[in-house]
Amino acid sequence: MKKKAIYPGSFDPFTLGHMDIVQRALKIFDHIYIAIGENTHKTPLFSCSERKKQIEKIFDDDPRVSVVVFDSLLVNLARDLKVYTVVRGLRAVSDFETEFQMASINRALEPELESMFFMTSDKFSFLSSSVVKEIASMNNEDLSLFVTDNVRKDLIKKFK
Ligand code: ADP
Repeated sequence: MKKKAIYPGSFDPFTLGHMDIVQRALKIFDHIYIAIGENTHKTPLFSCSERKKQIEKIFDDDPRVSVVVFDSLLVNLARDLKVYTVVRGLRAVSDFETEFQMASINRALEPELESMFFMTSDKFSFLSSSVVKEIASMNNEDLSLFVTDNVRKDLIKKFK
């Protein structure tokens, strides 16, 4: 049986740090569903469909990765897909508290659900989507250390 996992997040936009987590998870899982959460409390820079297109383009030739959008609880998505492992990334100790809380809530809602954490590479431990947006908003086009080329182009277009 194929081992599958869900990697949920905002991915606004998807960064090389997210990519690092997907590549690590693919060493263990046969298939990763990157799940873009529609968070009504945050106003995103990119719409869900823009983010979905961006990520699909990145993994265009990798059938082991698919992209879904979800607008309800993660546990509902897990039940729909019948995939009960969630992958998340850890950058620093500061990520731990919120991740611990989220994993505990998810487990309370669905005891079948397991969360697995992958530590990012040192070179991405400072990287977040917000930092990337901040740099891009200052019309700095030198984003290749942080995002893939298609995301870099989309960011430049957004802030033009
Ligand atoms: P959320 O709003 O759900 O935290 P994000 O898109 O910011 O969504 O992050 C999704 C997941 O990816 C989280 O587990 C986060 O800790 C992880 N992540 C974000 N940036 C990095 C990075 N640079 N390296 C490793 N993991 C990261």
